[in-house]
Amino acid sequence: MNMQTTIYCISDSTHTAIKSLSTGSIISISTEIFNRTPIEEICSEIDKSVPFLANEETHIGINIFVVTNLLCNLECSYCFERIKDNILLNEEIADKIFETIVYKASYYKVKEIDVTFTGGEPLLNFKAIKELVEMFERTKFTMTYAIITNGVYLNNDTFLEFFDSHNFDVQITMDGSKKHHDLYRKQRNGEGTYDLLLDNINHLNYYTNIKRAIRINVTKENYLEIKYVLDDICKMENYKDIFVYCDFVDVSIDDKTYISRKERTKILCDIIDEFFKREINSYDIYSDSGMCMMKNDYDFTVDAHGNVFKCYSLVSEIDKCIGNIFDKYVNIKGDGSYCNKKECEYHEQCYGGCPYSKYIETGCLERECNYSLIDIVNKHLFLNQVSDKFRNAKIEDIKIYRIK
Ligand code: SF4
Ligand code: SF4
Repeated sequence: MNMQTTIYCISDSTHTAIKSLSTGSIISISTEIFNRTPIEEICSEIDKSVPFLANEETHIGINIFVVTNLLCNLECSYCFERIKDNILLNEEIADKIFETIVYKASYYKVKEIDVTFTGGEPLLNFKAIKELVEMFERTKFTMTYAIITNGVYLNNDTFLEFFDSHNFDVQITMDGSKKHHDLYRKQRNGEGTYDLLLDNINHLNYYTNIKRAIRINVTKENYLEIKYVLDDICKMENYKDIFVYCDFVDVSIDDKTYISRKERTKILCDIIDEFFKREINSYDIYSDSGMCMMKNDYDFTVDAHGNVFKCYSLVSEIDKCIGNIFDKYVNIKGDGSYCNKKECEYHEQCYGGCPYSKYIETGCLERECNYSLIDIVNKHLFLNQVSDKFRNAKIEDIKIYRIK
């Protein structure tokens, strides 16, 4: 691959730990060998263990987000899906979405298609999910499916059997500890959903082909209590199989839940420590959006009306729609990198950050540079990963190499 790679190294007199930021792989070699081997050679050894980098015939898949409806079954005060739109993705639109995705995938000669169903609450339109999956299953493509749900309906075994038979990734979003989650995520009868979610996530464990993921939304109000959610996750069956990650909610700077970039660095490092304490090893590299939908040439989001967007967070902003699935031609080409500093150690984890996040603050979809945050958080993560051998190491002890 003609990509640049960043390598972290940390040494003592006997061992050197080396991490590739392109793959997350870590190897440990003797410091004596490290000192006499060119770093490029060491780098190629690390990445040999990662088949998709070692294989020259590697190809890019396409990722599509399908918004099956904007309706929701919960009353979350902050959520964009509250806009009054009762449209469900219907059969005609599903057929056209299928046709368009297959056409684009064939045009770009990709073999893999990744479809993520989202909403509103996508399980309010299970029919559309089922129809689309059944159509894709009749194609020659390697398919992967995911659903982003508030988790309330994950006690319905009809849904779960279907997800299990198609190896779905099921991602449930939580708003922090029971206190905070129940404050925001209420059912129509006013009851909180935290306990129900934990039961449902546990129930998912019986379906061995379903991969469980939990996204914890971090805000100014809940970040101190994230550890209590992690404690509850640790009580679940096979909790080490659950992919857990935290993300900051995109809100404007005058919102009471907003956390500044500077505060985010410390909060993320503290959260990573809490993950490692509990052996929840979901983090291997910290990326700041990377080659997201907005930047690449393949991926897009389509809503229940057939409107096409280059960012899943923009679905409520019709002026940001780039066309409709029924248009003769919709140009899904991305903007490429939002940052031309290819020498930046984190270029491949960032490509100019999340333009949507900048849009929330400034009204413009533009580069968002979080260099200091990505740098400190990645180094902090590396120190946690090698803490068995480098117990007292500090961030300043990490050497960085940029390799072509
Ligand atoms: S702009 Fe941000 S929110 Fe939108 S697809 Fe890219 S990373 Fe995701
Ligand atoms: S936006 Fe900042 S962190 Fe991202 S690649 Fe550019 S310089 Fe690096």
